[in-house]
Amino acid sequence: MWDVEKIRADFPALQQTVNDEPLIYFDNAATTQKPLCVLDKEMQFYKENNANVHRGVHTLSEAATQEYEEARETVRQFIHAASTKEILFTRGTTTSLNWIARGYAEKVLKEGDEIILSKMEHHANIIPWQQVAQKTGAVLRYVPFTKEGFLDEEVLDELLNEKTKIVALSQISNVLGTENPIARLAKKVHQYDAVFVVDGAQSAPHEKIDVQALDCDFFAFSGHKMCGPTGIGVLYGKQKWLEMMDPVEFGGEMIDFVYEEDSTWTELPWKFEAGTPNIAGAIGLATAIHYLEKLGMDQIQAYEAELMADLLPRLQAIEGVTVYGPKDPKDHKGVISFNIEGIHPHDVATALDMEGVAVRAGHHCAQPLLRELSVPAAVRASLYFYNTKEEIDRFLEAIEKVKEYFQ
Ligand code: PLP
Repeated sequence: MWDVEKIRADFPALQQTVNDEPLIYFDNAATTQKPLCVLDKEMQFYKENNANVHRGVHTLSEAATQEYEEARETVRQFIHAASTKEILFTRGTTTSLNWIARGYAEKVLKEGDEIILSKMEHHANIIPWQQVAQKTGAVLRYVPFTKEGFLDEEVLDELLNEKTKIVALSQISNVLGTENPIARLAKKVHQYDAVFVVDGAQSAPHEKIDVQALDCDFFAFSGHKMCGPTGIGVLYGKQKWLEMMDPVEFGGEMIDFVYEEDSTWTELPWKFEAGTPNIAGAIGLATAIHYLEKLGMDQIQAYEAELMADLLPRLQAIEGVTVYGPKDPKDHKGVISFNIEGIHPHDVATALDMEGVAVRAGHHCAQPLLRELSVPAAVRASLYFYNTKEEIDRFLEAIEKVKEYFQ
């Protein structure tokens, strides 16, 4: 039994009122709220164990190092990586993707090589590749999505060829909520010996991830979208790629020997983590992972599917509402983007805020996707496991009120 009220009691931010209404937090694709255990863990670290890692022999430093490295092991287990050497702590998905682009792609790509992206990507999975293409002479190719909102695999099949060196796709779209079949796509990509980069920012929070079963080469995600702190994220890479990839930042912690003119790097994973890392963030992320695992990733996914099955058809049925992407709630993973005829999405979001409902309006860092939909902006409601059916009822009532207000 999913005891949502008990779960909600773990989240202090969900207890507040906004504009005199109980908060309905439907902006989870942007960032999620944090359970008390994560907040307490960060506080406890700073109160009791605060010291720098890897450098000291004193007791506090050893305790901090142990907790930091245990956090890496927690992440390894969470995504079922083969080794902690394959787990790099970063600032988030954006940093992770930039590291691959700069440390790996810039090193290996040559003029005329091809990078395949999709029209569904978040800017974080577009702009780093544009930069690489501009520096190396590599060419960007885009896979469109079908009018139902799915990746057009036929076009992907046509685009893949011997010149394809990198394919970078999101697992779940942060606008349409559609999921790409990563394991199947990995087989196609690997037929051409290309490297498959997966943006897992919207999938890791919502479903069980097994990077070995997916057989992706890189996988990036952010702690703050899965109950963890901001400023911490993960880059998973197969060891063979990380061995040949260059660090992107240089300084303390990542060196072996430093000479006057040159230096050598230490071993994985530390060769990428220059300077003092986000120690409390990594420990907070591990606490968030333990929290999610205690709830159960499969149970989280099942409950969210129930919420979506309730919300999507009722939203679609409201006159004047256009929902983008698939029509079947099963194909919307946590996210619904929509517009109301004749009302600007920013006005919708502002009016919903007056009712205590937090949603996002804008281009959702996916301008190429919105251009394909021929809309400049959309409203996005994104759910997490602590949302309730009562909140969905109130959200739909609020949509009706917004319509009345503007008509
Ligand atoms: N990729 C996707 C699909 C996202 O939804 C986001 C965040 O919204 C990002 C990448 C960037 O994540 P971050 O801002 O945590 O680096």
